[in-house]
Amino acid sequence: MRDTLVLNASFEPLSTVTLNRAVVLVLQDKAVVEQAHPELRMRGAAVDIPAPRVIRLCRYVRVPFRRQAPWSRRGVLVRDRHRCAYCGRRATTVDHVVPRSRGGGDTWLNTVASCAEDNHRKADRTPEQAGMPLLRQPFEPTPADAMLLALGRDDVEALPEWLAQPAA
Ligand SMILES: [Zn+2]
Repeated sequence: MRDTLVLNASFEPLSTVTLNRAVVLVLQDKAVVEQAHPELRMRGAAVDIPAPRVIRLCRYVRVPFRRQAPWSRRGVLVRDRHRCAYCGRRATTVDHVVPRSRGGGDTWLNTVASCAEDNHRKADRTPEQAGMPLLRQPFEPTPADAMLLALGRDDVEALPEWLAQPAA
């Protein structure tokens, strides 16, 4: 089941919901569709609407506490847009900047997307030791970024441009 991104009335990403839940929110006039899947429609006895990819709540929801984005390998790849931190080519693996064998942890600031070749070449060394400088520094995604990370890669890439995306 595809998920739909929910924006606050202020256009900030808020959460994701199932497609069915998103349709219910729209039909109840609690949200409007900001972007729909181009070829997917939701059909029912009384409805036939484009499947929403992004909806926006009609009323502003106050969010008192935004939790940090939990670290994940997939999240690192999405954050880095599947680009290798060492050569810029397509990345399919996650590299620990400070290797785990040297105490480096599974954290946003210690992991980068890497192509399999560079990951193998760097092996058990720091970028300095391996002579492989990082093209960019890893960063901690904001809670808004975290919502985008929760979406599938195709969905993230298809989001409207005005929506904040994880920095490249
Ligand atoms: Zn590479």
